[in-house]
Amino acid sequence: MNEFINPAALKRKALIVDDEIINRTILGHILSGSYDVTYAENGQEAYDMLTEQSYGFSLILLDLIMPVMDGFTFLEKRKEDEELRRIPVIVMTSEKSAEVKSIRLGASDFITKPFEMPEVIIARCERIVELSENTSIIRSTKNDSMTGLYAKEFFYEYLHQYASLMEGSLDAVVLNIDRFHLINELSGRRAGNRILKLVADLIKEVLLRQDGVACRAEADNFLVCLLHREDYGDVFIRLQEALAERSGSPHIHIRAGIYQNVDREVPGELWFDRAKIACDRIRGDFMRQADFYSESLHTRALFHERLINDVQEAIDKHHLTVFYQPKYKIQGSEPRLSSAEALVRWQHPELGMISPGEFIPLFESNGLIQKLDNFVWNEAALQVRRWKDRFGVAVPVSVNVSRVDIYDPELENKLIGILGAAGLTPDDFMLEITETAYADNGARLVEVVEHMRGQGFKIEMDDFGTGYSSLNMLTSIPIDVLKMDMKFIRNMLRDEKSLRLVELIMDIAKFLDVPVVAEGVEEEAQLNTLRQMGCECIQGYYFSKPVPPEDFEVFIREDVVKGECATA
Ligand code: C2E
Ligand code: CA
Ligand code: CA
Repeated sequence: MNEFINPAALKRKALIVDDEIINRTILGHILSGSYDVTYAENGQEAYDMLTEQSYGFSLILLDLIMPVMDGFTFLEKRKEDEELRRIPVIVMTSEKSAEVKSIRLGASDFITKPFEMPEVIIARCERIVELSENTSIIRSTKNDSMTGLYAKEFFYEYLHQYASLMEGSLDAVVLNIDRFHLINELSGRRAGNRILKLVADLIKEVLLRQDGVACRAEADNFLVCLLHREDYGDVFIRLQEALAERSGSPHIHIRAGIYQNVDREVPGELWFDRAKIACDRIRGDFMRQADFYSESLHTRALFHERLINDVQEAIDKHHLTVFYQPKYKIQGSEPRLSSAEALVRWQHPELGMISPGEFIPLFESNGLIQKLDNFVWNEAALQVRRWKDRFGVAVPVSVNVSRVDIYDPELENKLIGILGAAGLTPDDFMLEITETAYADNGARLVEVVEHMRGQGFKIEMDDFGTGYSSLNMLTSIPIDVLKMDMKFIRNMLRDEKSLRLVELIMDIAKFLDVPVVAEGVEEEAQLNTLRQMGCECIQGYYFSKPVPPEDFEVFIREDVVKGECATA
């Protein structure tokens, strides 16, 4: 004889809790074919039985109105007990109004009294048991051990079941912590893990409550699927506030992307891709907690996909080109050309001119920026070479170094290689690094910048005033030039406060003993005021927009005539 027990031959245990003997008998009769049935006469008896004896039950069928302890109280007590909570409860009721309350208290389904057809009851019980067992299998073996939410692979498995059980519309939500890597770096992995756990808890408390499924996908990405809500009100603000309060760090910013009324025809993975599009749109926008996915976002995402696909061809076929915008020294008797900034341009054969404001952030987010920047550096080096050969002058060019490039261990070799191939040295390039990159990873940046300066490169801090550098931080960052962001210039002659800010930046530069380049100067009055304040250099439409290299030669010629350009 086979000594192993065949699990299929074992009946699952069901507990019927009802004070009326007639109900217990009828229901017991219906279920006894499929279940090993036990009875309790009221909530208290059931509770004692379940907590004192083993937890071998797969299902509880619960009457609501009973003496000693009624069904609602039983549900409440069950909620407190982690083990008990795992046993699904089907409520038996004759009143519709009791359903909502029971669902809130954690019941899974209903059977109406007087009892319906036996097949219906059995089918309901089976469905609930199956669902609950799948859940607990997932729960016991397939959880993310840190947060207790599902792990990603099993989430999608369970999502499928959840979606097929839920008849109404569903929403998909992606949550992400802004600059999570910084928390890890600054406060240690432990603190990072604590925050992840906290976010998972808050997702359960604030977002899920009774309904929905959630997982931690990777790192600090959380996925949630739940019944559709028209209005999320201040759910995410509350989540953010609770996070600030419980973590004790007010600066952690959590953002959510919501794809409402998901299209059930497309796979679940796509629901979250769409929610993520909305989530990514508010990256770094600390004023906003959540955004919704829409058709127009979808169109934008497709547009971005197109750009990503086309970038290599754009380089090969010269749809990407480099324009140059002159920078002029303004402190002498008349302005003098001092250098140029290399700015990339994309003339797409089908989509027309595409602004770098569109594709630079996109390429920064997926690493393509390195390819693009390499291309620009190379073009710029060849251009400096040509100008040297043609005019006998050195026009140094500022190239933009993206925050992503900073992490490239080959950065120095690449730049030196490009310059060397054109017969140039680090004197011919200046490197513009945006201020916000310093905030991203100060320590790494200082290291790289120090090293590059050691090689002879001059470093310009770009878009100064848009980041969060403290004075303290600035004194420890080695830079050669401050580029004041153009938003300060825009209003400097229109309102007193902007003018004060410009003065303040000039003071900071004086304190740091570095020259200032003012960007976005369009009017003579701005230039004059800046000159009086001691600003050394100006870049802006006042002198010229960024232009193709051929057009830039006009500025070189003019300056050669003045005889002031450094000879090569
Ligand atoms: P940025 O480095 O701050 O570059 C200055 C931007 O201001 C340029 O916009 C330039 O055309 C514009 N600008 C200059 N003078 C004026 C003015 O008087 N008025 C106004 N309204 N605008 C002026 P552009 O070329 O659209 O570039 C936008 C941003 O894209 C750049 O900002 C830079 O961050 C990024 N970028 C451009 N080319 C490259 C590149 O080759 N590599 C990288 N990594 N980033 C680039
Ligand atoms: Ca720049
Ligand atoms: Ca700038």
